[in-house]
Amino acid sequence: MNIQYVQGTPFFTDINKNKKQYPYLTENIETDVCIIGGGVTGAIASYYFSKNNVKTVVLEKKRIAHLSTSVTTSLLQYELDDKLSELQEYTTLENSLKAYNLGLKALEEIESFINTYENKCDYKKRDTLLYTAKNNEKNSIKIEYDLRKKNGFDVEYIDENTNKFSFDLKSGLISKNGGAELDPYKYTNQLLDVSSDIGSKIYENTEVIDLVHYEDYIDVVTEFGYKVKAKKVIVATGYNTKLFTSRNFGTKTTTFNVVTKPVSNFDGWEDKILIRDNCDPYNYLRTTMDNRLIIGGEDVSFIPDIFDEKLANEKYDILECRLKSMFKYIDNIEIDFKYSGTFASTPDNLGFVGPDNKHKNLWYLLGYGANGILFAILGAMMLTQLYSCEPNKDMNLFKIDRFDK
Ligand SMILES: Cc1cc2nc3c(=O)[nH]c(=O)nc-3n(C[C@H](O)[C@H](O)[C@H](O)COP(=O)(O)OP(=O)(O)OC[C@H]3O[C@@H](n4cnc5c(N)ncnc54)[C@H](O)[C@@H]3O)c2cc1C
Repeated sequence: MNIQYVQGTPFFTDINKNKKQYPYLTENIETDVCIIGGGVTGAIASYYFSKNNVKTVVLEKKRIAHLSTSVTTSLLQYELDDKLSELQEYTTLENSLKAYNLGLKALEEIESFINTYENKCDYKKRDTLLYTAKNNEKNSIKIEYDLRKKNGFDVEYIDENTNKFSFDLKSGLISKNGGAELDPYKYTNQLLDVSSDIGSKIYENTEVIDLVHYEDYIDVVTEFGYKVKAKKVIVATGYNTKLFTSRNFGTKTTTFNVVTKPVSNFDGWEDKILIRDNCDPYNYLRTTMDNRLIIGGEDVSFIPDIFDEKLANEKYDILECRLKSMFKYIDNIEIDFKYSGTFASTPDNLGFVGPDNKHKNLWYLLGYGANGILFAILGAMMLTQLYSCEPNKDMNLFKIDRFDK
């Protein structure tokens, strides 16, 4: 586990006790596509490429799904971190609406994966709520509701008079079927199980230490000297991309999560809806299949190599108090897990997908922003199309150089 990026005991890796282990690389091999990184993003890429009959290898330097993937809250929502009106500072309304619709498409993709291969990852479709408890933010939620309604999204507006939740709410926007939740550890492993069944080769404890670029292929050099010769290399290393580029991809923050023990009732949390408030930084909440509550947020700037334990404990206390004050009718809220993780965001809330500017065989798949998992799905689908020489024009939204001046 990378000490800089994850702190504490992440809930999802802790509760999943029967961990499958993949071998490490002990020979030189050749493949069409080599994916570096065995988190949820690498697993998604492995699934889409192998499903499209592309010979695929995944290299993970430590254990599958044990870095950011172990701490993601896994709220899957089509909406971006910022509201449509706020995004217009960085991109066009047309692009933001396109991204929202792509988010819905990614949700459909997960649903179709589950329908095909069974629900082995505690997947559950959910409505989502974006709300404010502040009078002066009431209007901005209404504006967002109007914009979404006008553009065909299935949304409902609620206010103090129609509030069905136990917490203070001045205005709220409910997106019907606008989200889903899952267990990211199980989902990553299910994707890899399916892809290894259809030919993908997966290696753990196999760190990539160098890339040697040739005209038509790349030699991927691993820690113990074995190489993977690949036509294309996909960087799915999450927030650590230093080995591949000096480009600074996103603004890193640390975000905090607390998870309760299973609770016996959900009074005041209608339909176990996925919740996000309108604060900056915001709080986000979900439930789990074994009846726990998760609250996250209280983000601070990420400082490499330094973990401020006192600050983290203050943040966990704030989250616990907020949870208890929001859900005063839920009995016996007791905290079981506390952990924090690094997170990267971009001005337009989108990740990075596509080829490197210098090395045409080096491609990125970086699901940054709060919708990292959904955009990893879209990105993997786009890269699969690119591999088949049928580039998808929506990939321009995720171009790696889009913020270059
Ligand atoms: C607390 C928290 C809450 C979040 N909540 C949400 C949410 O609700 N919804 C959402 O969509 N997203 C959320 N995110 C973002 C989400 O976690 C990320 O989008 C996702 O986990 C990133 O997965 P990944 O596979 O890209 O990265 P990682 O899980 O970090 O995986 C990258 C992998 O690459 C490996 N690696 C790195 N370098 C090398 C190398 N040289 N050789 C081989 N392997 C290497 C690492 O060991 C690691 O396993 C959240 C993030 C945090 C921190």
